[in-house]
Amino acid sequence: MHAMEIFDMREFDGHELLVFGNDAATGLRAIIAIHSTVLGPAAGGCRMWPYETTTKAVADVLRLSQGMSYKNAMAGLPFGGGKAVIIGDSGKAKTPQLFEAFGRLVDSLGGRYVTAEDVGTTTGDMASVARVTRYVAGLGAAPGQAGGDPAPKTALGVYLGIKAAVKFRLGRADLKGVRVAIQGTGGVGHHLCRLLAVEGAELFVADVQPAAVQRACEQFGAHPVAVDEVLALDADVLSPCALGGVLDARSIPRLKASIVAGAANNQLAQGQDGAALQAAGILYAPDYVINAGGIISVSREYHGGATEAQVLADIQAVPARLTEIFERARRENRTTNAIADQMARERLGRR
Ligand code: NAD
Repeated sequence: MHAMEIFDMREFDGHELLVFGNDAATGLRAIIAIHSTVLGPAAGGCRMWPYETTTKAVADVLRLSQGMSYKNAMAGLPFGGGKAVIIGDSGKAKTPQLFEAFGRLVDSLGGRYVTAEDVGTTTGDMASVARVTRYVAGLGAAPGQAGGDPAPKTALGVYLGIKAAVKFRLGRADLKGVRVAIQGTGGVGHHLCRLLAVEGAELFVADVQPAAVQRACEQFGAHPVAVDEVLALDADVLSPCALGGVLDARSIPRLKASIVAGAANNQLAQGQDGAALQAAGILYAPDYVINAGGIISVSREYHGGATEAQVLADIQAVPARLTEIFERARRENRTTNAIADQMARERLGRR
């Protein structure tokens, strides 16, 4: 791959900075992307994933970083958008030294990028990062203070977002008996199951890790579903909470749910998949709007002095933001993702 091709990639979208970090001593190979610092330092988590090629890692970090710009802008946070990926198997290649090396790379950017955990990394890994840089959040928090694991906060926003979508699309004010299919019961998905179960929603869960499914079934009375069946399940709501790109030309025609509302980043394989959802009468809650709870928590933690109660209050704004998008999309007969993108780009000063 030539450098010029990166500038020409569809995912590049006017990124301010792309940094490749290599540390021979620890085996670290990381890429940090900064999409925009117009609204503040670029904030976004660090994903650890065994990408088959560097090209795939670059495409992913650029896509995720742009997504963080949009997410932070839409959540009204004083943050720009960025993201990091560490190329490696999080089940095998993790050491505290590797994350310290990553922390030095983050520190070298002098605060233009603030990191946190994401898929494949944990609060423990971020504690290693924090030994060498202060540009990190998503660390352990004192009781009652803002911070800590963002996953439960993300789950709260997704839960409130599902309620808003159910109200808008199905005209129902509660979730009793509403059938929700959840793809991925990891950090976010598990907490989401808890919140939905309290309201009497009927849960169907799938995960590539059988233990995660078992936990949700035992604790919340969820029904197990095969991994390759969950997307097409006959449910009211499909909640993708695993990885991105699950909504595409192959999966959308099979969907039976009338609402898609989940935590996963970059759920639409391509922008035009939003049009396919709209044509099928499926209400799509734009991923970066509904899953902002974690970054809202990270923002409060990073800027300091806030309580957990303030974070929870901030997250209550997520459903109103979604409803505004749903209403505008209906009024203008456009897709919800196009409306959200336009609103985000306006806030970023981009066309
Ligand atoms: P996680 O790694 O804890 O959980 C993901 C779960 O999905 C795991 O249990 C995994 O086994 C499962 N999974 C992977 N592939 C699957 C497949 N094909 N079918 C079914 N299950 C599969 O991650 P998380 O923190 O819960 O995040 C979930 C998603 O939400 C990710 O896309 C992440 O980027 C996004 N997200 C997370 C946060 C957060 O605060 N953690 C915030 C915003 C967005």
